[in-house]
Amino acid sequence: MKTIVLGGGVIGTSTAYYLAKLGHEVDLIERREGAALETSFGNGGVLHTSEAEPWSRPGMPANIWKWLGKEDAPMLLRYSALPKMWRWGAAFVRNCTAERYRRHTQINLRLSFYTLKCVEEIRTETGIDYDLMQKGTLKIYTKQESLEQNRTECEAMRPHGMVFEVADPERCVAIEPALAPMLARGRGQLALMSSLASFRGFPSAPAYCASKAAVRLYGEALRGRLARHGIAVSVICPGFVRTPMTGANPFRMPLIMAPERAAAIIRRGLARRRAQIAVSLGALRRGPRLAGAAGRPRRPLAGTDPREGMISRRPTPSWRARRRARRPRRRRHPSAAASAAAGRAAAAARRS
Ligand SMILES: Cc1cc2nc3c(=O)[nH]c(=O)nc-3n(C[C@H](O)[C@H](O)[C@H](O)COP(=O)(O)OP(=O)(O)OC[C@H]3O[C@@H](n4cnc5c(N)ncnc54)[C@H](O)[C@@H]3O)c2cc1C
Repeated sequence: MKTIVLGGGVIGTSTAYYLAKLGHEVDLIERREGAALETSFGNGGVLHTSEAEPWSRPGMPANIWKWLGKEDAPMLLRYSALPKMWRWGAAFVRNCTAERYRRHTQINLRLSFYTLKCVEEIRTETGIDYDLMQKGTLKIYTKQESLEQNRTECEAMRPHGMVFEVADPERCVAIEPALAPMLARGRGQLALMSSLASFRGFPSAPAYCASKAAVRLYGEALRGRLARHGIAVSVICPGFVRTPMTGANPFRMPLIMAPERAAAIIRRGLARRRAQIAVSLGALRRGPRLAGAAGRPRRPLAGTDPREGMISRRPTPSWRARRRARRPRRRRHPSAAASAAAGRAAAAARRS
């Protein structure tokens, strides 16, 4: 049979691959110049079974209601999309019961295990070579309640094949794969990717800023801990870099930089084993104003007030002005005050 597959992302290419194996004559049609240049290009490259829980879960309809129209929500739903989505929305809400959530998680888990098997099969049959690591995924929780919630969910999936362990910070460092050989050698360098957004809260991306601040502080702490083992830790803090991904950003990106220039700065910083490699220092200095600019959409977004999310653009006082404001006012000595008053009275008398 002749079959046409539209779209050369991971789904289209694997569909075409399996159809061809079944004996179909397959044409794969892709609108871009090559395969996998859209979503399948920009993802995290992580294939695992530990996120089998569906979004339709108890409590989610209330969350979605709260997130409605918020551009940085974990699940973005715009007001303008609502009229077309009511049927999907009703089905979504129907599936948010505890019973359905449990059942769908198990189905998804089975599907993820099957997917991993298929990926392994494709890898073996085609001999595709890529940077593959099969040591599991390390998830870091910053809140005890999130850790507990995930522990409960993983425990529920354990009888269905989920393998997991809860690791404390020491264990996390111990299983960091790059670390072990470096410790043995007594030298090495780790580079962590934070962002200039770790210094300033951009109204357009609160969660992003918070997570990048966490990476920066983690790197700073790790640098102190690993220094005695001869391992340097550098935290890279780029500003906006011109890429196809940032090209799609609907907000203004002050001091955006060419990727070549950013790469040169990062390379130089790494060669000098710098603790912190801030790719655009100018952006740091102009932080407060940038935070306002970066939160301002280039064009109004559907369902949002373009002014929403802007912070005060009044310039922050310099450190000198702040120090002056903190300094207690000097009180004049009573005799100095009395002689000044006498001088003023004499001058007034002369004038009259
Ligand atoms: C930031 C991010 C991180 C992610 N991280 C992970 C991860 O770590 N692990 C994971 O498993 N998943 C991850 N995902 C999800 C995963 O990347 C997607 O589920 C997957 O790439 C979807 O593949 P696809 O083939 O359906 O879509 P795409 O890769 O987008 O492919 C669709 C293709 O169809 C083409 N096309 C569209 N219309 C036409 C047309 N009319 N004619 C011809 N061609 C057309 C497009 O050009 C495109 O190449 C992530 C997603 C994102 C956005």
